[in-house]
Amino acid sequence: MLTQTAKDELIRQQYRIVGEHSAVKTCGWTKNMIKGKGGCYKLKFYGIMSNQCMQMTTSISCANRCVFCWRGYKAPVSKEWKWGVDDPELIFDGSIEAHHKLLAGFGGQPEAKHMFEMSKTVKHVALSLTGEPITYPRMNELLLRFNKEGISTFLVTNSQYPDQIRDLNRVTQLYLSVDAPTKDLLKKIDVPLFPDYWERLNKSLEYCAQKKDRTCIRLTIVKGLNDANIEEYAKLIMKGNPDFIEIKSYMHVGPSRERLTIDHMPWHEEIVEFSKELMKYLSDYEIVTEHVPSRVVMCAKKTFKKNDKWFTWIDFDKWHELVNSNKDYDKYDFLKQTPQVGLSGRITKEEVSKIAERKRERLAKQKKIFVDEKTNEMDL
Ligand code: SF4
Repeated sequence: MLTQTAKDELIRQQYRIVGEHSAVKTCGWTKNMIKGKGGCYKLKFYGIMSNQCMQMTTSISCANRCVFCWRGYKAPVSKEWKWGVDDPELIFDGSIEAHHKLLAGFGGQPEAKHMFEMSKTVKHVALSLTGEPITYPRMNELLLRFNKEGISTFLVTNSQYPDQIRDLNRVTQLYLSVDAPTKDLLKKIDVPLFPDYWERLNKSLEYCAQKKDRTCIRLTIVKGLNDANIEEYAKLIMKGNPDFIEIKSYMHVGPSRERLTIDHMPWHEEIVEFSKELMKYLSDYEIVTEHVPSRVVMCAKKTFKKNDKWFTWIDFDKWHELVNSNKDYDKYDFLKQTPQVGLSGRITKEEVSKIAERKRERLAKQKKIFVDEKTNEMDL
């Protein structure tokens, strides 16, 4: 799949290539949690232990060139699978090994000892790093392997491969990206290779609605580009009928900085406002909680609320017992109470404007905008 030059470039950016088409990179939140600096928003929303999470993909290639993506435009793109197909065992073993090697340096830090020891047991895999993981033709076998090892699977797809979504084995949580509310805008935001990209998105949403597993629709909001037409977003969300909705700010990192400016990045309060507006059209959902550093709000179906308490966390032990049993189970069979809910109400709009102005002034003073190719990629 990759030329040696492309591989060298990825290695320079701290990726580790596994086999022919997979890659691993340590998530910044994994490092943070090992150092005792807190976990990612998926810890707050669903109970993922960031220090025990491996971030990887089974396909470096993608069928989109999203404007907000942290990938450079030189990253491989393709509609079809054109490469050899690595054995799932090779991907599993190679990824775990590469992940541990990348974390090895933390072992010598006394303050990180406990969390580092825990990180030696991978409990979660985020199949989302870069590219489109669902296109790997033997994904279902790999999912079975993760299930067998007691590793939860959070799989993110760009909603361009509906058949793969329909045929997917059970995962802990399936994410579909919905990057724009209308056909025309989706073309501008995602720059898709498929001419029938809109039909593919809609079909993917239909299959999402039929899933027995937990599902989540992710909106990545880019200020001034895809932050309007909220009612149309709501219609797409209703079609997908997900359990959760994550509304998240675009993050101004990596090569996306060559295409967008810092002003395209909404403030957390703007994400909150957008989420509140969206909820007016989705009576089956409510805002559950937020993660301010990641500028993300999570909404859930009211069916995850019992006696005025939210249950969006996952009982991972129960999940593994169920997924490896022959029992027919559903998404409500392995829930845990969400410990922290509600919105913080941090920072007023006036304060937001002042901060934005100060930031713009600071940036304007910089002689050049530094493009850091070693961006600490993570689900910011
Ligand atoms: S942000 Fe994603 S990859 Fe990083 S620790 Fe959390 S779940 Fe894992």
